[in-house]
Amino acid sequence: MLHETYEPVIGLEVHCQLQTEAKLFSPEAAAYGAPPNTHVDPVSLGHPGTLPVLNEAAVAHTLRMGLATHCEIAEQSFFARKHYFYPDLPKGYQTSQFDTPLCFGGYLEIDAGPEDDASEETPRKRIGITRIHLEEDAGKSIHDQSASHTLLDYNRCGVPLIEMVSEPDLRSPREAYRYLHKVRQLVRWLGISDGNMEEGSLRCDANVSVRPKGQTGFGTRTELKNLNSIRNVERALEYEINRQIVARERGEAVQQQTLLWDADAQRTRTMRTKEAAHDYRYMPDPDLPPIVVPRERIETLREALPEMPDARRTRFMSSLGLPAYDAEVLTEERALADYFEEALSSLFKRTKGGDTKAQAKEVANFVMSDVLRTLNETDYTPETLPVTPRRLAQLVYLRLEDKVSSSGAQEVFELMLENTDDSAGKIADENNLIQISDRGSIEPVAESVLDDNPDNVSSYLDGKDGLLGFFIGQVMQRMDGSPNPQLVRDVLSEKLDARAESA
Ligand code: ADP
Ligand code: MG
Repeated sequence: MLHETYEPVIGLEVHCQLQTEAKLFSPEAAAYGAPPNTHVDPVSLGHPGTLPVLNEAAVAHTLRMGLATHCEIAEQSFFARKHYFYPDLPKGYQTSQFDTPLCFGGYLEIDAGPEDDASEETPRKRIGITRIHLEEDAGKSIHDQSASHTLLDYNRCGVPLIEMVSEPDLRSPREAYRYLHKVRQLVRWLGISDGNMEEGSLRCDANVSVRPKGQTGFGTRTELKNLNSIRNVERALEYEINRQIVARERGEAVQQQTLLWDADAQRTRTMRTKEAAHDYRYMPDPDLPPIVVPRERIETLREALPEMPDARRTRFMSSLGLPAYDAEVLTEERALADYFEEALSSLFKRTKGGDTKAQAKEVANFVMSDVLRTLNETDYTPETLPVTPRRLAQLVYLRLEDKVSSSGAQEVFELMLENTDDSAGKIADENNLIQISDRGSIEPVAESVLDDNPDNVSSYLDGKDGLLGFFIGQVMQRMDGSPNPQLVRDVLSEKLDARAESA
């Protein structure tokens, strides 16, 4: 009940490691996962006399993210030195941006409807993005491998990062979850980061305060760190909101402080109390010229952006007639959306018209069941799946033509994972999965089944309707291949009706 009288206010600061070959200011590899201290170089170690040279690919990645989130782009922005001492920062300052971020004043949209409601009218909520700036990462201090020493790995020193700061527009832990999910989806979609929170390429600090509902000013906030999964961000916020409400109800003031989330204990711990803002002695970096982004370059980058997930999702609904839920699932990941569309256009080449919406739905069903299940259970990606989009289209076509039953299609799909040489049709044929759909071949078998079972036929004619299933089973058994069960049922019913009349 208390929660109904208070409203949480949340703003997120997200750091995201950019996927570039080289570091931000030196040609050394920015690769993840190499043995410690194998990607070090004089520039990122801050040796005297070295000079940084800006990696243009990192700027382009930052601009892509800015454009994808409707930001304005600074025509001129500067790098600044942010001074602090830490063993994993050998230069003694981090090269970052201060009052001129590359991108600013944008937004992204999150789903604001209730959980699992993927109806067409799902309301969307805009979350403001204050700024996105470019900076370098620090190295890594490792405290848990030696009892007496802190170990240092400088591989990460100088790896490009973007920092993305949201407006305090989020109003619940769930919204924070959705916002982060969206950020991760976008960086992956743009191919600028792997967005992996567990490996630290996506990191999030959450700022949170509570205020009585109806109040317009903000309360004192705390900052939560050490959140290494999207789920943990949500849980930590739930815990912290509750803690702040309880404190307020007791008449205690919320202190501005930085808290660490302890995922094992499911609680926060104080890291430091912020009396005043840190003084980093920011100053423009004299070694780096301003980043100048001409208007034409911004337009070129904007035009080269892929169709973004929201737009694609809307198009899947409006032009392909897919339900909102399907459109959502299929556009979660760009490679999956591409897979789906390739399979669909390959199918269209076969069908050459007809009910394209039904065809789209059929492909969507296959992708959301067999394909997604296989991707989840194996190491395949949409790009490496042995059932390529073109081969999936062969299978969907067989199904649409009723050449295979739905369970038969599933079997063919499994076989196609092993057999990458043959077409879906050949595999279905060789494994007796082609459904026999011509009456001509079913009729004589049905006739002989009835002739061979005169007692059952007379019981059936006396009213034991259940025997129809027995006859169907007999026909299926006697036929080589798999006759369409519905057709077998129809043929048998007709023949039994005829016998009833002549009896
Ligand atoms: P700092 O420089 O101390 O990190 P910022 O101005 O960069 O502070 O804000 C950090 C984040 O905190 C932003 O995402 C912002 O939206 C959020 N924020 C600011 N004030 C509040 C508040 N009172 N409650 C919750 N979040 C806040
Ligand atoms: Mg900040």
